[in-house]
Amino acid sequence: MRLLVTGGAGFIGSNFIHYWFARHPRDSIVNIDLLTYAANPANLEGTENRNYEFVKGDIADTKLMDRLAKDVDAIVNFAAETHVDNSIKSSAQFIHSNVMGVHALLEASRRHEKRFHQVSTDEVYGALPLGSKKRFNEASPYLPTNPYSATKAAADHLTRAYHNTYRMDVTISNCSNNFGPRQHTEKLIPKAITNAINNKRIPVYGNGMQVRDWIYVDDHCSGIERILEKGVAGETYLIGANQEKRNIDVVRRILERLGKPERLIEHVVDRPGHDVRYAIDATKIKKELGWKPSYNFEEGLRKTIGWYSRC
Ligand code: NAD
Repeated sequence: MRLLVTGGAGFIGSNFIHYWFARHPRDSIVNIDLLTYAANPANLEGTENRNYEFVKGDIADTKLMDRLAKDVDAIVNFAAETHVDNSIKSSAQFIHSNVMGVHALLEASRRHEKRFHQVSTDEVYGALPLGSKKRFNEASPYLPTNPYSATKAAADHLTRAYHNTYRMDVTISNCSNNFGPRQHTEKLIPKAITNAINNKRIPVYGNGMQVRDWIYVDDHCSGIERILEKGVAGETYLIGANQEKRNIDVVRRILERLGKPERLIEHVVDRPGHDVRYAIDATKIKKELGWKPSYNFEEGLRKTIGWYSRC
């Protein structure tokens, strides 16, 4: 297989490249990334002896996407603006990368008849009530609540529309909150770990009661691998590891593991329109594709803390 991976210098994309080469050593990967503030070229250390090529560029560049799509078997799109807080401050770049970028990739895939996989988020479904047992599934209505999730929802709709209109070989995955090595420290878990290591205050939005459903990044990668291998064209698969945790408890656990005091926690003004709870029902991918997660939260956290401690 020759894969075009987009956004592979970011968190999940780079973990996916390492994951893929470890299991498919003879495959080749072209990684196209704009190298925004969120990218870290050091995330790709270890790819030197692989069939790996890096291209710096924008996925919204239609000519470049057309050229790159020609020579690959499949395209996996991780590239996106991903930080909700940034999308609240200014959303133009989110529309550019997350919507126009996906359009350019879909057009290139269509022209060259290539398989396209869109990596999306459970945030497109909005929020669930705190304390309820409800979980998102593939039939949940799209109700994005902030500019980031609205752009991801738009990209999902476009991807599905391209399948419906042009019968293209596309799949979509909507995954819950990822954690693991190589994540930017703007996100909750790496920020809590690195601040705790450096005895710095850890900002927690509001009372910290917001619930997220955590998945270790390699489990997300194995879900995408399974969809690429066995997924049905036009289908959407939710990926989650059934590990709901309140933000405040995640931070407390990190402090406990690092032997740091709870007084490092600093409650800050909540994000406007902050979604209170996400939770995924991953029955479809488990039953239809035989996928299951391999890591529980504690094991993933141990590996993640170990990685940031060595950085
Ligand atoms: P990230 O912010 O760590 O990385 C995004 C990468 O995309 C960066 O390397 C950046 O340089 C690149 N990029 C941004 N705009 C680009 C453009 N126009 N052209 C080319 N490259 C561009 O993000 P992440 O957390 O690794 O997320 C990857 C994907 O997974 C995103 O699509 C995100 O919506 C989705 N997702 C993330 C999570 C999560 O918990 N992090 C959960 C579910 C889905």
